[in-house]
Amino acid sequence: MKTLSFLQRSSMAMMASWSLLVPSAPRANTAPVHTAPAVPAIAAPLHVVATTPDLASIAMEIGGAAVEVKALAKATEDAHFVDAKPSHIVTLNRADVLIEGGAELEIGWLPPLLESARNEKIATGAPGRILASQGIRMLEVPTSFDRSKGDVHAMGNPHFLIDPLNVKIIAANIAEHFAKVAPASAELFKANLQKFNATLDQRMAAWQKQMAPFKGAKIVTFHRDFVYLSERFNLVTVETLEAKPGIAPSPAHLAQVIGTMKSTGARVILVQPFQNRKTAETVARQTDAAVLDMAQQPGAIKGTDTYFQLMDYIVNTLATALQGKK
Ligand SMILES: [Zn+2]
Repeated sequence: MKTLSFLQRSSMAMMASWSLLVPSAPRANTAPVHTAPAVPAIAAPLHVVATTPDLASIAMEIGGAAVEVKALAKATEDAHFVDAKPSHIVTLNRADVLIEGGAELEIGWLPPLLESARNEKIATGAPGRILASQGIRMLEVPTSFDRSKGDVHAMGNPHFLIDPLNVKIIAANIAEHFAKVAPASAELFKANLQKFNATLDQRMAAWQKQMAPFKGAKIVTFHRDFVYLSERFNLVTVETLEAKPGIAPSPAHLAQVIGTMKSTGARVILVQPFQNRKTAETVARQTDAAVLDMAQQPGAIKGTDTYFQLMDYIVNTLATALQGKK
């Protein structure tokens, strides 16, 4: 495992240099010392690491001033295939809490980073390890699966944050873990969770109202990444440009997609920044469809820095396009 040993070497080198910056602990001294004046203890913010920016956005809302949050994946990166960097090991080594999507979303890149980071606080089963998929009703759990062919949804569809009601479950899960790791801030986390849920309920009512006229509308996506959105807002994902999750489109498969779009009347194709827009445009030309620039990560599209802003953007873009294609 060449990659792993490289990461381990880098991590050890970096931890060694970081330790030089840490002031040494006071040593036991036999000489009489003056006792320092008592200062009220100010809890240091929790170092929270989220694998993806959507989870980081929720963690910030719940943690408020009591947390510092970093995301490992960039907003424009495919969460299945993140470039593992030595700096990620340092970040994970210093973390008090790790939030991951779970359901094997990060299986291709997170395990070797965690092995190198050697941080007990975020080990599996520790209070500092949060699995967003816990308590989520997974869609598309496969009965058969072939990882060797590039199939990447082994435990069901891991793109569940695109359903705002799933985010409510995740936010509660995060608040519960934060309170265990930092009990002194438990009341703050509880209050922030209530505020978050109130905003979400209010936005959700508006999104549902906006999407109501498009019940049953057919959509096409590149990957199976908007399935939970389809279910929540009564849309139908009739085809994906990929033959299967993680498997690149073949001309034969695209011909089938075009046929399905013509027979079902699907007139919008959703693409994310890291997906092949050219393929979508080719299909769109032959089906009189619109290609919609979409994202699942806050920050991937200008003006969508929080989860709420991102969902506003998604609902507005979809509703406008579906209205135009009616
Ligand atoms: Zn996927």
